[in-house]
Amino acid sequence: VRAVVLSIGSELVTGLTLDTHAREMARALGAIGIPVVRFEVLDDCLEELAAAFARAATDADVVVASGGLGPTLDDLTRDALARAMGVPLETHPEAAAHLEAWARSRGRPLSESHRRQAAVPRGSTPIPNPIGTAPGLDACLGRARVFCVPGVPGEMRRMLADHVIPALKAQAPERVSLVRTVRTLGVPESILGDRLGDLMARGRRPTVATAVHVGIIDVHIHASGPREEAERLLEADAAEVRRRLGRAVFGEGDDRLEDIVARLLAQRRATVAVAESCTGGLVAAKLVNVPGISESLLEGLVTYSDESKVRRLGVPERLLAEHGAVSEPVARAMAEGARAQAGADLAVAVTGIAGPSGGTPQKPVGTVWFAVSDVRGTEAAREVFLGDRIHIRERAANAALNMLRLRLSE
Ligand code: ATP
Ligand code: MG
Repeated sequence: VRAVVLSIGSELVTGLTLDTHAREMARALGAIGIPVVRFEVLDDCLEELAAAFARAATDADVVVASGGLGPTLDDLTRDALARAMGVPLETHPEAAAHLEAWARSRGRPLSESHRRQAAVPRGSTPIPNPIGTAPGLDACLGRARVFCVPGVPGEMRRMLADHVIPALKAQAPERVSLVRTVRTLGVPESILGDRLGDLMARGRRPTVATAVHVGIIDVHIHASGPREEAERLLEADAAEVRRRLGRAVFGEGDDRLEDIVARLLAQRRATVAVAESCTGGLVAAKLVNVPGISESLLEGLVTYSDESKVRRLGVPERLLAEHGAVSEPVARAMAEGARAQAGADLAVAVTGIAGPSGGTPQKPVGTVWFAVSDVRGTEAAREVFLGDRIHIRERAANAALNMLRLRLSE
């Protein structure tokens, strides 16, 4: 059993709205062992939609479509499905009664455009919509089962959970398709690929693949089959990945770096201060994402100018003059200064060139110096990141959090 997911709406193809329904559907279908072979994003256009339904129904056993079920004339999903099925639209008595009742509860007569929503392709069943007006559709097209749900996010989720997933579960034996994600930072993708090479080989089960997000590399492990077997395979691979990548692994699933740093700070009852230049407060802002960080985070300073580094952090003017603001001695002095000023157990400092201008051959755009300081001493590191200003800031903030994490987990 495999599925095609159709996301319907002109605001999706014009780029006004990002299609996020497809991934929610893929996860929900994957969780019951139905892989998705394709996503399609489609305009509200009768001929194209009818053709897409027909194509999807030949390529897959399950088609799930969202959007275009509303009351307006540009909502064409039910017309298109009827056309693909080669049947007329008929008013469904129960769906009509639901709409009448909804209109009565508002003290208004049912408008002609809303009445259209009670029409379903002959032979299909409306899916009740307890929180909106548009019913969904449950139909057969060729040998495929087709579900249409509204585009409104709450209604889509409700129908998916209450009708589509239970209906598919009832139809197929319980198989699952599960993903486990091991999150890493610090091992470059090429090296990571070498270390995990045999696990990532084509055709191997479970499948292991990597995805990069601003310096963080996620290792996704994907297994399908009977639940127990899939879970056992995932467990074994996750343990192996963790073993091979060691300290680069910072978490799993939805763990963010800041969550891990906050947890370590709390466990160690340690306080922290942050001194930032090119990241402009991003490191502190990430830490503040985590509830309860007030127990650990004492202050974050954005010392952007040389003068501010001197005045707020006590960086010696001589260091700035001799080495420049983006240098190891200044990063160290910033971390030590921040720690002393705040009276914190630890401090991290970031100073770099986010670009697009300001680079030199010795210090190209993307050069960032970091330092972390605690009672055991101060350690500095340099990175050169590629990319635009926003990307460099984001990577630098992640790298700073990672330095804190490594220091805290020593
Ligand atoms: P109605 O017209 O009654 O609101 P509908 O079924 O026609 O219902 P749409 O008009 O297609 O629904 O979508 C309603 C809203 O839901 C859109 O404006 C958009 O904000 C959101 N939406 C629809 N489809 C998606 C999608 N694939 N991903 C993310 N958001 C979506
Ligand atoms: Mg609509």
